[in-house]
Amino acid sequence: MISESLKELLKDDVFAAAPAEEPQRQHYFIEQLKKVFGGSDRRYTAAVVTFGCQMNARDSEKLEGILSEIGFATGADEQDADFVAFNTCTVRENANEHLYGRLGRLKSAKTKNRDMIISVCGCMMQEADEIEKLRSRYSFVDIIFGTHNLYTFPELLFRLLRKRSGSVDAFDDNGIRMLTSSSDDAVRLDRLMRYSGTASGQKDIEKLLRRPVVSVWEGSDRIVEKLPSKRKYPFKQGINIMFGCNNFCSYCIVPYVRGREKSRLPEEIFDEIRAAASEGVKEIMLLGQNVNSYSGGINFAQLLRQIDSLCDETGIERIRFMTSHPKDLSDELIEVMASSKHVCRQFHLPLQSGSDRILKLMNRHYDKERFLERAAALKAAMPDISISTDIIVGFPGETERDFLETLDVLGRVRFDSAFTFIYSRREGTPAAALEDPTEESVIKERFERLLGFQNGIVEENLNALAGKKCGVLFEEISEYDPGLITGKTEQGITVHVPADPGIIGQIRDVVLEENHKFYFTGSLVGKESNATRIGG
Ligand code: SF4
Repeated sequence: MISESLKELLKDDVFAAAPAEEPQRQHYFIEQLKKVFGGSDRRYTAAVVTFGCQMNARDSEKLEGILSEIGFATGADEQDADFVAFNTCTVRENANEHLYGRLGRLKSAKTKNRDMIISVCGCMMQEADEIEKLRSRYSFVDIIFGTHNLYTFPELLFRLLRKRSGSVDAFDDNGIRMLTSSSDDAVRLDRLMRYSGTASGQKDIEKLLRRPVVSVWEGSDRIVEKLPSKRKYPFKQGINIMFGCNNFCSYCIVPYVRGREKSRLPEEIFDEIRAAASEGVKEIMLLGQNVNSYSGGINFAQLLRQIDSLCDETGIERIRFMTSHPKDLSDELIEVMASSKHVCRQFHLPLQSGSDRILKLMNRHYDKERFLERAAALKAAMPDISISTDIIVGFPGETERDFLETLDVLGRVRFDSAFTFIYSRREGTPAAALEDPTEESVIKERFERLLGFQNGIVEENLNALAGKKCGVLFEEISEYDPGLITGKTEQGITVHVPADPGIIGQIRDVVLEENHKFYFTGSLVGKESNATRIGG
């Protein structure tokens, strides 16, 4: 229930006084929300639940940063939290089901704590039918927003509190192409106010004021940064360099939910890196759906070269980046990586299929020979590089012959890890219209065969590293054995060593001793590392 004193903080003139320009407007609402949530004698708690990729994980760090700035204690259990945010993914069918399962389990908690605020955002909220499903079947959800306006979260939270206190504000779309919003509720409230004197009229008004605040944009060319964010690890940070994707692979929903490619200006990226370094970050991950089509006035290879020198100045030791598209992997980028001091020898190069016929149907714009040539070029320039990939088994119409082409590429490139998926039909993508005569059991058998083959390669690759010395960035206490500390080599190999938790956040030299299929155990050698490269 919104108290009278709280209503004072939510008045029309407070809302109207918000500056128009961003991000000042959101900082203004953060200040107002601090008064609302900061004024209580207890600390409000929040839970941010993330589904999906590293882009989503970085967006969740921004939501956590804003909530912490307002005064929430983040990291709470969603069943007991005052505020819960679900940051959704929709890349595969079952991702959507995950959300509905969690929401279903939260309904009783909301019944017990009517002031609990539940918000849903992320890629799934860019699908109109999913938004309608939420509005109609999960009416206890309070805030719904999409991928293009995540930065407006503080304003949306403030609008929700105003709505709960009886004031509904329409959205001024300001040249923004709205997919959907709750603006109509403002008109409906005006109409209902005429009957506020009657019991049923009052009931209708209360019902309307409990409806969600919804703001989902169809698209936007705006990039708004410089809002608080809270890193999961104090010593490593994801840095968005671009958003969206123009590739339209025929099976992929991402271009429809993340929009057209837009790149941040180099100076903005450099500023964020300097700020991260000043806070003790040792490793940065440059993020984008397709980083190698970065176009912020310079290309990705040029950006990476400048970031490599910047890391010299700022003390950041490691640079990672994902995701790359094989069609845009240039010799210039390979040369920059090979000559860099800080770029990790790890490359994620999604293959998806080894069959030229399937690659065409997928609209991937490269063929098997081109992919093999690019992988070979990476290994020729950096023999200690680790290459990982993505594979889809069961694309509509895939034959045994197509599948064997994929196995052939696995056997020739010998990937150090592979994210393997069975094709998931996504409504709205061109591939969704393709017929598929293949039995599910055949697809499952192929998937198992591919996993067995690829896991054998991973094990052999790891065996070859036993006894090698390399730098490991230690991240946390092992979840399996509190006496072990877990970290990652620059190739992305997980390593556990017996050590004191004090080494967390440090890069230390380790000898890799025993391979346990998907991770190594080893021992520390010497003092703080100077990031020895594998076999160095
Ligand atoms: S490159 Fe293809 S698979 Fe990757 S996000 Fe873009 S459309 Fe999707």
